[in-house]
Amino acid sequence: MIAICNNEGACGIPATARGLAAGEAALDAIEAGIRLVEASESVRTVGRGGWPNLLGEVELDASVMDGTSLRSGAVGALTGHLHPVSIARQVLERLPHELLVGEGARRFAAEIGAEAGELLMPHARTAWERWFRDEVSEADRANWPDVPMAELCAQAIDPETGRDTTVFLAQDSERHIGAGTSTSGWGWKYPGRLGDSPIIGAGSYADTRYGACACTGVGEMSIRAGTSRAVVLYMKMGMSVEEAVYEAVSDMRALKGGLIGRVTIHAIDAAGGHKVVAVNGLPENHYWLWCSGEAAPSSHPCEIITISEEPAPKPTAHRRYEQMGL
Ligand code: ASP
Repeated sequence: MIAICNNEGACGIPATARGLAAGEAALDAIEAGIRLVEASESVRTVGRGGWPNLLGEVELDASVMDGTSLRSGAVGALTGHLHPVSIARQVLERLPHELLVGEGARRFAAEIGAEAGELLMPHARTAWERWFRDEVSEADRANWPDVPMAELCAQAIDPETGRDTTVFLAQDSERHIGAGTSTSGWGWKYPGRLGDSPIIGAGSYADTRYGACACTGVGEMSIRAGTSRAVVLYMKMGMSVEEAVYEAVSDMRALKGGLIGRVTIHAIDAAGGHKVVAVNGLPENHYWLWCSGEAAPSSHPCEIITISEEPAPKPTAHRRYEQMGL
């Protein structure tokens, strides 16, 4: 058995490890761990407490994938619900579909009685209101929200702050492999923007025969490179988990233009091996690992591979607000 998650999942991984040790199925243990991350208001990029989009609304993305049936469930741009990972799980359990977005996802969440709640917490509301006051022109404020937003989005998005995700991968005692993700995506994103987290094959993929992969960071890059599916496919084609992740890093070198920044690739194989690489990462990028027989999960530094020498992003409104302690 093995479980890994990114640093953002720290408060959830002990529950996942305990569940696996007690014989829970991989997806159950993953869902239980991610729910704790979603519930934690101090995690500012997942669930309640996440950063809002340009309209000041928190939109959540999440997914699960069962590597044995190759069924998945995902929700994108979901508002007003506290546990998108569980709604994604119910998409898998109850629907003939794999992905619901926006109003349809919200409707399904209400239909199944998923926990509704306010997602915008005071720190995020204050930061958004200050951004609106300081960065949006008087004319746009007067016509809000019927204003062009593309330019506002380009100015507000900061590739290094205001975003992250939680990703969990696990292999259970029956050797079944699963994957799960949950995120509020990017702060100040264009409304309706989906990252990689709800896109199976980009932000996550699991196949019990070979292994699983999940990404955090610039979802636009993992979508373009099809990273999670690629890593599992490379393992199917005979590569080790390390080789497969390096090959996916090499795929990212081919991305030209668009947004290039940090992507952390987390992968496990069916034999209990794992590899985590932070593309364009920073020394503080860590992940959590638990293997059968261990008392508790432990934190490890990611291997860092730099593929871009892009200049450091200029500070934006919400970074300044973070520095102000919001
Ligand atoms: N991958 C997430 C997204 O693109 C964000 C992140 O992990 O930083 O929405």
